[in-house]
Amino acid sequence: MSTIDDLPPLSRVIASHGLTARKSLGQNFLLDLNLTAKIARQAGDLRNMDVLEIGPGPGGLTRGLLAEGARHVLAIEKDSRCLPALEEISAAYPGRLTVMMGDALKVDPLEHLTPPIAIAANLPYNVGTELLVRWLTPKEWPPFWQTLTLMFQREVAERIVATPGSKAYGRLALLAQWRADARIMLSLPPEAFSPAPKVSSAVVHLTALPEPRFPADAKVLEAVVAAAFNQRRKMLRAALKGQHPDIEIILQKAGIAPTERAEQVSLEGFCALARALAEARE
Ligand code: SAM
Repeated sequence: MSTIDDLPPLSRVIASHGLTARKSLGQNFLLDLNLTAKIARQAGDLRNMDVLEIGPGPGGLTRGLLAEGARHVLAIEKDSRCLPALEEISAAYPGRLTVMMGDALKVDPLEHLTPPIAIAANLPYNVGTELLVRWLTPKEWPPFWQTLTLMFQREVAERIVATPGSKAYGRLALLAQWRADARIMLSLPPEAFSPAPKVSSAVVHLTALPEPRFPADAKVLEAVVAAAFNQRRKMLRAALKGQHPDIEIILQKAGIAPTERAEQVSLEGFCALARALAEARE
């Protein structure tokens, strides 16, 4: 039974539009509208915000976002079979839903959005991680978005919020936490989706900070973090050898023992290292 709007239940929408799930598009649909409304609520108060939704599929989360009061939703979907179902939602919420068919990795949605902007998505793992990294590494900060509310495999969600010393700690945690607050809001078992994936999922909410938590040049920080975690088992003096001939001195200057490994170094430590490296290269 539909509970958040007068549109048909999602199982009926999927059946009537022949939306058999395609593995190649990572299609694991959410069918419970109470759950999609709950996920939409994790995005915070959307009443004065435009929402960019990636991968609406049959529209479960889209309906949640609209029912929760989003000012306007721009939904980008790659699978054209979903268009008729999304058009029905658009008709039920006049002027509040724009659907764009295309690959979210290729289209530029910005001209259709008015700030403040929230992003919400339940996406396939590979596309979701690639988009998250893009959203976290724009040319300018603050970025065009204020919040990200994203479904990930539980393991990826844990990598985003991980702290030093844990196995999950790495590039994603540092990229996310340098300029955003990141929290896991909800955990979902495989059975929440149709078809059920093999793994559990979690909703992560990120809020962009007005400024980075610690000063550093973004490009230098990204490069040093990538190099450090590419060889995470090695001591930093070895893993970062290619960064500068005097890397040991630079590490010491940043307050990091050259014998430490990447996963022991805090965000503040990596920012100090990026500053020391930038200075040594001048
Ligand atoms: N949001 C819906 C839900 O929660 O039920 C669908 C989620 S399903 C996990 C992922 C959706 O993303 C599918 O509808 C799929 O077609 C779409 N998708 C996959 N790759 C995409 C891409 N590169 N750009 C836009 N949409 C994509």
